[in-house]
Amino acid sequence: MIAEKMKPYVKNNSAIRMMFEEGNRLRGIYGAENVFDFSLGNPSVPAPDCVRQAIIELVNDTEPTVLHGYMSNAGFEDVRQAIADSLNRRFGTAFAAKNLIMTVGAASGLNVALKTILNPGEEVIVFAPYFLEYGAYVKNYDGKLVEISPDTATFQPNLQEFEEKITPNTRAVIVNTPHNPTGVVYSEETIKKLAAIMEAKQKEYGTVIYLISDEPYRELAYDGVQVPYLTKYYDNTIVGYSYSKSLSLPGERIGYLVIPDEADGSQEMITAAAIANRTIGSVNAPSLIQKVIAKCVDAEVDVAAYDKNRLALYNGLKDLGFECIKPEGAFYLFVKSPVADEKEFCEAGKKYNILMVPGSSFACPGYVRLAYCVSYDTIINSLPQFAKLAKEFEI
Ligand code: PLP
Repeated sequence: MIAEKMKPYVKNNSAIRMMFEEGNRLRGIYGAENVFDFSLGNPSVPAPDCVRQAIIELVNDTEPTVLHGYMSNAGFEDVRQAIADSLNRRFGTAFAAKNLIMTVGAASGLNVALKTILNPGEEVIVFAPYFLEYGAYVKNYDGKLVEISPDTATFQPNLQEFEEKITPNTRAVIVNTPHNPTGVVYSEETIKKLAAIMEAKQKEYGTVIYLISDEPYRELAYDGVQVPYLTKYYDNTIVGYSYSKSLSLPGERIGYLVIPDEADGSQEMITAAAIANRTIGSVNAPSLIQKVIAKCVDAEVDVAAYDKNRLALYNGLKDLGFECIKPEGAFYLFVKSPVADEKEFCEAGKKYNILMVPGSSFACPGYVRLAYCVSYDTIINSLPQFAKLAKEFEI
């Protein structure tokens, strides 16, 4: 009875979600403290107290028909202005309220961006490993996903293959830094090279190629690493931001798009994106939480807690002989599977109550993703279990 387009999704129902359900099953049998569930990127650090305060103040002090009412499809003007001011302060940009469209998290922001720019059959380039939902988003607008194979030495984008795969039909490129699932932050050097390639290809083909920066992890960066703000390197950049991780609000569904004045067709795109927000069915981002964001625009979650987890898990696994690169951002560790079929490794992990996500869920088989947004105790208590797993695979 369901639509043809839905059938593959139902068939491949996200491995991550299935893992989540497996976690619940194991918790029911062994108790939560004995299950080491590294499967889901659900923030473990609570939202800053400013969020709770803001909700109380807003509910007490704002006229309910305003607080809960419809507004412009792009979102409340004062909220967009507050975010634009914050970005301008932090990154030396010059955005105005009109350059921002409030969205229902990054997921809907990406859908709005793609609906705004993509014609059927046009290509969208992504760098493996990547967040697999990109494929679904591109298909929503009948685009064609083009994958660049991973550079497993660094997990920085493979720029040689990228240059080769840009065609006159390339409409957009999606990058995600800090990166899910590797925790890599694209260096300024990488960004400059990527931008130069895109500029040259635009000139060569006489086309416009948009760079979509999917950045829900922007604020989660460690060791003082800088996360370049991409609009400063490439004019045709659209930023997709989310507060799901940066303020630990994934269930609230709030984020925004930035369409800078420098982007080709900026004005037309801004108008179209607000309409796309409505017609994809979101209508507008949730009103109360938009107002909360304006009050908490410079608030931060306790990134130090993730950093502590990062170091404990990375060092612990390295000491056991596992291979992985040290993440500089986000809250994921991408570990090389000791056997080519990483699903076999994930299955074996379950014997020790360790849940990991296979790299094939990110178009990068041979690796597994561990989300370390868990309690510190979970990390420490998981290490003896990882030791048993390492022994089983003769690491
Ligand atoms: N992009 C990436 C790379 C993600 O990891 C996620 C969520 O985990 C999203 C987008 C979607 O985020 P949101 O909850 O803001 O829709």
